Amino acid sequence: MSIRIEATADRQFGTNSYLVEDEETKDAVIIDANLEPGLMIDLVGRREVNVKAILLTHTDIDHVAGLSALIAEVGSIPIAVHDQERHVLTEGKPLRREFGASTAPIENVVNLVEGETFRAGSLDFEVLHTPGHSPGGVTLKIENNLFTGDALFAGSIGRSDFANSDGRALLEGINTKLLSQPDELVVYSGHGPATTIGRERKTNPFLS
Ligand SMILES: [Zn+2]
Repeated sequence: MSIRIEATADRQFGTNSYLVEDEETKDAVIIDANLEPGLMIDLVGRREVNVKAILLTHTDIDHVAGLSALIAEVGSIPIAVHDQERHVLTEGKPLRREFGASTAPIENVVNLVEGETFRAGSLDFEVLHTPGHSPGGVTLKIENNLFTGDALFAGSIGRSDFANSDGRALLEGINTKLLSQPDELVVYSGHGPATTIGRERKTNPFLS
């Protein structure tokens, strides 16, 4: 399998959406739905891929705001999220009591389950539950790539000052599930540039 990854970032929050593509089959998934879905729709068109599912690392509004527009474009494909944040999509409830914003209820929501493989066409993702920034935060692993959402960033970690955050759980998840991965694994975060596990283990000031 030959995996190709490309990011689009919205200009308001710098939230990354990723297109992950199997170059042999042209099957693809979108990871997270930022505030500028048009950028991703253009990318999908340019790559001429078949989008099989949309996977969500978590459901903060800047990661789900583009969902309805993406679904309108690619059709009613499965939208995959951890069970602890499923209601945010199915009932259109905000994830945070600090913020009112939410999305219209979404159909065809399926679960991402810790330790299980999520299959989308020819793409297989390993699901690692990395909560703490939010209860249902997950990291998605495919080959040598980790999509960490807002758990781990290049040089930083996610906020844990919200009512439903848990700073200890965040650090425990990063330590046991992410820093336990080989140095060369590439980290694609919810915001900012890509990094590697080795670089973060050595230089991330929040992890020493
Ligand atoms: Zn975010």
